[in-house]
Amino acid sequence: MTALTPKRLGLFGGTFNPIHYGHLRTAEEVVEALGLTRLWFIPAAQPPHKGGQYITPFATRLEMTRLAVGRHPRITVSDIEGRRPGKSYSIETLRQVRAQQGPDWELYFILGLDAILEITTWKDYAELFTLCHFVALDRPGYDRSQLEAVLRREVHPPCRPLPGGTGFQHPSGYKIILLGTTLMDISATRIRRLVEEGRSIRYLLPEKVRRYIIKNKLYA
Ligand code: ATP
Repeated sequence: MTALTPKRLGLFGGTFNPIHYGHLRTAEEVVEALGLTRLWFIPAAQPPHKGGQYITPFATRLEMTRLAVGRHPRITVSDIEGRRPGKSYSIETLRQVRAQQGPDWELYFILGLDAILEITTWKDYAELFTLCHFVALDRPGYDRSQLEAVLRREVHPPCRPLPGGTGFQHPSGYKIILLGTTLMDISATRIRRLVEEGRSIRYLLPEKVRRYIIKNKLYA
Protein backbone atom coordinates (compact mmCIF):
# COMPACT_ATOMS: atom_id res chain seq x y z
CA MET A 1 0.00 0.00 0.00
CA THR A 2 1.47 3.39 -0.96
CA ALA A 3 1.16 6.53 1.14
CA LEU A 4 -1.42 7.78 -1.36
CA THR A 5 -3.77 4.84 -0.98
CA PRO A 6 -6.70 5.98 1.14
CA LYS A 7 -7.43 3.95 4.23
CA ARG A 8 -10.93 2.58 4.11
CA LEU A 9 -12.98 1.84 7.19
CA GLY A 10 -16.29 -0.02 6.98
CA LEU A 11 -18.84 0.55 9.75
CA PHE A 12 -21.41 -2.22 10.06
CA GLY A 13 -23.97 -1.28 12.69
CA GLY A 14 -26.90 -3.32 13.94
CA THR A 15 -28.64 -4.82 16.92
CA PHE A 16 -26.91 -8.18 16.41
CA ASN A 17 -29.44 -9.98 18.60
CA PRO A 18 -27.80 -12.34 17.73
CA ILE A 19 -25.19 -11.89 14.98
CA HIS A 20 -25.56 -14.56 12.25
CA TYR A 21 -24.03 -15.69 8.96
CA GLY A 22 -26.12 -13.13 7.03
CA HIS A 23 -24.00 -10.46 8.75
CA LEU A 24 -20.69 -12.29 8.83
CA ARG A 25 -20.38 -13.57 5.28
CA THR A 26 -21.57 -10.21 3.89
CA ALA A 27 -18.96 -8.38 5.95
CA GLU A 28 -16.25 -10.64 4.58
CA GLU A 29 -17.43 -10.02 1.01
CA VAL A 30 -17.63 -6.23 1.50
CA VAL A 31 -14.08 -6.14 2.87
CA GLU A 32 -12.87 -8.00 -0.20
CA ALA A 33 -14.96 -6.18 -2.81
CA LEU A 34 -14.14 -2.67 -1.59
CA GLY A 35 -10.62 -3.37 -0.38
CA LEU A 36 -11.46 -2.19 3.14
CA THR A 37 -8.50 -1.70 5.46
CA ARG A 38 -10.73 -2.37 8.48
CA LEU A 39 -14.35 -3.22 9.17
CA TRP A 40 -15.96 -2.68 12.55
CA PHE A 41 -19.13 -4.41 13.67
CA ILE A 42 -20.87 -1.84 15.87
CA PRO A 43 -23.58 -3.30 18.10
CA ALA A 44 -26.13 -0.64 19.05
CA ALA A 45 -26.35 -0.14 22.81
CA GLN A 46 -29.89 1.27 22.62
CA PRO A 47 -31.28 0.73 19.10
CA PRO A 48 -33.51 3.75 18.35
CA HIS A 49 -35.91 1.79 16.12
CA LYS A 50 -36.76 -0.98 18.56
CA GLY A 51 -38.58 1.25 21.07
CA GLY A 52 -40.64 -0.54 23.67
CA GLN A 53 -39.59 -4.09 22.93
CA TYR A 54 -37.24 -6.06 25.24
CA ILE A 55 -33.73 -6.30 23.85
CA THR A 56 -30.97 -8.59 25.10
CA PRO A 57 -28.46 -6.50 27.10
CA PHE A 58 -25.73 -4.73 25.15
CA ALA A 59 -22.91 -6.62 26.93
CA THR A 60 -24.41 -9.96 25.88
CA ARG A 61 -24.83 -8.92 22.23
CA LEU A 62 -21.31 -7.46 22.22
CA GLU A 63 -19.91 -10.72 23.59
CA MET A 64 -21.72 -12.81 20.97
CA THR A 65 -20.43 -10.51 18.22
CA ARG A 66 -16.87 -10.86 19.54
CA LEU A 67 -17.21 -14.65 19.72
CA ALA A 68 -18.50 -14.72 16.15
CA VAL A 69 -15.71 -12.61 14.64
CA GLY A 70 -12.88 -14.23 16.59
CA ARG A 71 -9.47 -13.22 15.32
CA HIS A 72 -9.69 -11.68 11.87
CA PRO A 73 -6.98 -9.62 10.18
CA ARG A 74 -9.37 -6.81 9.23
CA ILE A 75 -12.65 -7.27 11.05
CA THR A 76 -13.11 -6.23 14.68
CA VAL A 77 -15.95 -5.33 17.04
CA SER A 78 -16.37 -1.82 18.39
CA ASP A 79 -18.11 -0.95 21.67
CA ILE A 80 -18.30 2.75 20.73
CA GLU A 81 -22.09 2.89 21.11
CA GLY A 82 -21.92 1.33 24.58
CA ARG A 83 -19.73 4.16 25.78
CA ARG A 84 -22.38 6.82 25.05
CA PRO A 85 -25.51 7.34 27.11
CA GLY A 86 -28.95 7.40 25.54
CA LYS A 87 -30.16 6.06 22.23
CA SER A 88 -27.52 4.85 19.77
CA TYR A 89 -28.01 7.20 16.86
CA SER A 90 -25.83 6.40 13.84
CA ILE A 91 -25.32 10.08 13.12
CA GLU A 92 -23.57 10.50 16.48
CA THR A 93 -21.39 7.44 15.89
CA LEU A 94 -20.43 8.71 12.46
CA ARG A 95 -19.55 12.18 13.70
CA GLN A 96 -17.47 10.62 16.47
CA VAL A 97 -15.64 8.18 14.16
CA ARG A 98 -15.10 10.93 11.57
CA ALA A 99 -13.47 13.16 14.23
CA GLN A 100 -11.42 10.31 15.77
CA GLN A 101 -10.04 8.82 12.56
CA GLY A 102 -9.17 12.08 10.84
CA PRO A 103 -9.20 12.91 7.13
CA ASP A 104 -6.95 10.03 5.98
CA TRP A 105 -9.77 7.54 6.38
CA GLU A 106 -12.64 7.04 3.94
CA LEU A 107 -15.70 5.81 5.80
CA TYR A 108 -18.22 3.30 4.42
CA PHE A 109 -21.46 2.79 6.31
CA ILE A 110 -22.74 -0.72 5.58
CA LEU A 111 -26.41 -1.68 5.85
CA GLY A 112 -29.01 -3.97 4.33
CA LEU A 113 -31.66 -2.84 1.86
CA ASP A 114 -34.34 -3.20 4.55
CA ALA A 115 -32.49 -0.68 6.72
CA ILE A 116 -31.58 1.89 4.06
CA LEU A 117 -35.17 1.90 2.78
CA GLU A 118 -36.09 3.48 6.11
CA ILE A 119 -33.27 5.99 6.15
CA THR A 120 -35.54 9.04 6.17
CA THR A 121 -36.75 8.00 9.65
CA TRP A 122 -33.22 8.15 11.06
CA LYS A 123 -32.06 11.10 13.17
CA ASP A 124 -30.50 13.84 11.01
CA TYR A 125 -30.59 11.49 8.04
CA ALA A 126 -29.68 14.20 5.50
CA GLU A 127 -26.39 14.83 7.30
CA LEU A 128 -25.50 11.11 7.18
CA PHE A 129 -25.01 11.40 3.42
CA THR A 130 -22.50 14.22 3.92
CA LEU A 131 -20.19 12.20 6.19
CA CYS A 132 -19.47 8.92 4.40
CA HIS A 133 -20.19 6.52 1.58
CA PHE A 134 -22.98 3.99 2.03
CA VAL A 135 -22.91 0.34 1.03
CA ALA A 136 -26.38 -1.14 0.51
CA LEU A 137 -26.58 -4.94 0.70
CA ASP A 138 -29.20 -7.01 -1.08
CA ARG A 139 -31.49 -8.88 1.24
CA PRO A 140 -34.13 -11.45 0.30
CA GLY A 141 -37.55 -9.84 0.15
CA TYR A 142 -36.29 -6.34 -0.74
CA ASP A 143 -35.48 -5.07 -4.18
CA ARG A 144 -33.27 -2.34 -5.49
CA SER A 145 -36.04 -0.50 -7.34
CA GLN A 146 -37.58 0.37 -3.96
CA LEU A 147 -34.29 2.01 -3.02
CA GLU A 148 -34.22 4.06 -6.18
CA ALA A 149 -37.65 5.47 -5.30
CA VAL A 150 -36.45 6.44 -1.81
CA LEU A 151 -33.13 7.98 -2.86
CA ARG A 152 -34.55 9.95 -5.78
CA ARG A 153 -37.86 11.06 -4.31
CA GLU A 154 -37.83 10.93 -0.51
CA VAL A 155 -34.25 11.89 0.30
CA HIS A 156 -33.53 15.63 0.20
CA PRO A 157 -31.45 16.67 -1.56
CA PRO A 158 -32.07 13.71 -3.89
CA CYS A 159 -29.41 11.32 -5.20
CA ARG A 160 -28.88 10.54 -8.87
CA PRO A 161 -28.28 7.06 -10.28
CA LEU A 162 -24.76 6.11 -11.29
CA PRO A 163 -24.21 4.51 -14.72
CA GLY A 164 -24.55 0.72 -14.91
CA GLY A 165 -26.83 0.43 -11.90
CA THR A 166 -23.86 0.39 -9.53
CA GLY A 167 -25.43 2.82 -7.10
CA PHE A 168 -26.24 6.49 -6.56
CA GLN A 169 -24.41 9.74 -6.18
CA HIS A 170 -25.33 12.20 -3.44
CA PRO A 171 -24.71 15.92 -4.11
CA SER A 172 -22.13 15.84 -1.27
CA GLY A 173 -19.89 13.69 -3.50
CA TYR A 174 -20.40 10.55 -1.42
CA LYS A 175 -21.86 7.47 -3.07
CA ILE A 176 -24.44 4.87 -2.18
CA ILE A 177 -22.87 1.68 -3.52
CA LEU A 178 -25.06 -1.30 -4.39
CA LEU A 179 -23.18 -4.47 -3.69
CA GLY A 180 -24.35 -7.92 -4.71
CA THR A 181 -23.23 -10.27 -1.94
CA THR A 182 -24.31 -13.84 -1.27
CA LEU A 183 -28.01 -13.71 -0.50
CA MET A 184 -28.84 -15.34 2.79
CA ASP A 185 -32.38 -15.47 4.06
CA ILE A 186 -31.35 -15.40 7.70
CA SER A 187 -32.63 -12.96 10.30
CA ALA A 188 -32.07 -12.58 14.02
CA THR A 189 -35.85 -12.54 14.50
CA ARG A 190 -36.10 -16.02 13.00
CA ILE A 191 -33.22 -17.31 15.12
CA ARG A 192 -34.86 -15.99 18.30
CA ARG A 193 -38.15 -17.58 17.30
CA LEU A 194 -36.54 -20.96 16.58
CA VAL A 195 -34.91 -20.98 20.04
CA GLU A 196 -38.22 -20.05 21.63
CA GLU A 197 -39.87 -22.98 19.86
CA GLY A 198 -37.10 -25.33 20.98
CA ARG A 199 -35.91 -25.85 17.41
CA SER A 200 -32.42 -26.02 15.96
CA ILE A 201 -30.41 -22.90 15.04
CA ARG A 202 -27.32 -24.89 14.06
CA TYR A 203 -25.51 -23.61 10.91
CA LEU A 204 -27.41 -20.30 10.88
CA LEU A 205 -24.69 -18.72 13.01
CA PRO A 206 -21.25 -19.69 14.33
CA GLU A 207 -21.18 -22.68 16.66
CA LYS A 208 -19.55 -20.62 19.44
CA VAL A 209 -22.51 -18.24 19.39
CA ARG A 210 -25.02 -21.09 19.31
CA ARG A 211 -23.39 -22.62 22.39
CA TYR A 212 -23.33 -19.23 24.16
CA ILE A 213 -27.07 -18.82 23.50
CA ILE A 214 -27.86 -22.26 24.89
CA LYS A 215 -25.53 -21.96 27.89
CA ASN A 216 -26.98 -18.57 28.87
CA LYS A 217 -30.56 -19.61 28.08
CA LEU A 218 -31.08 -16.66 25.74
CA TYR A 219 -34.33 -16.33 23.80
CA ALA A 220 -35.77 -19.45 25.48
P1 ATP B 1 -33.82 -8.54 13.41
O1 ATP B 1 -34.43 -9.73 12.72
O2 ATP B 1 -33.77 -8.67 14.91
O3 ATP B 1 -34.41 -7.22 12.96
P2 ATP B 1 -31.52 -8.64 11.62
O4 ATP B 1 -31.25 -10.08 11.33
O5 ATP B 1 -32.19 -7.82 10.58
O6 ATP B 1 -32.28 -8.51 13.02
P3 ATP B 1 -29.81 -6.50 12.50
O7 ATP B 1 -28.87 -6.60 13.63
O8 ATP B 1 -31.04 -5.70 12.70
O9 ATP B 1 -30.15 -8.02 12.05
O10 ATP B 1 -29.07 -6.05 11.19
C1 ATP B 1 -27.92 -5.26 11.13
C2 ATP B 1 -27.69 -4.91 9.69
O11 ATP B 1 -27.41 -6.10 8.94
C3 ATP B 1 -28.88 -4.23 9.00
O12 ATP B 1 -28.40 -3.21 8.15
C4 ATP B 1 -29.50 -5.36 8.19
O13 ATP B 1 -30.14 -4.87 7.04
C5 ATP B 1 -28.27 -6.20 7.83
N1 ATP B 1 -28.62 -7.61 7.66
C6 ATP B 1 -29.18 -8.42 8.56
N2 ATP B 1 -29.34 -9.66 8.08
C7 ATP B 1 -28.87 -9.65 6.82
C8 ATP B 1 -28.78 -10.63 5.77
N3 ATP B 1 -29.22 -11.87 5.94
N4 ATP B 1 -28.21 -10.24 4.60
C9 ATP B 1 -27.78 -8.96 4.42
N5 ATP B 1 -27.84 -7.99 5.36
C10 ATP B 1 -28.38 -8.32 6.55
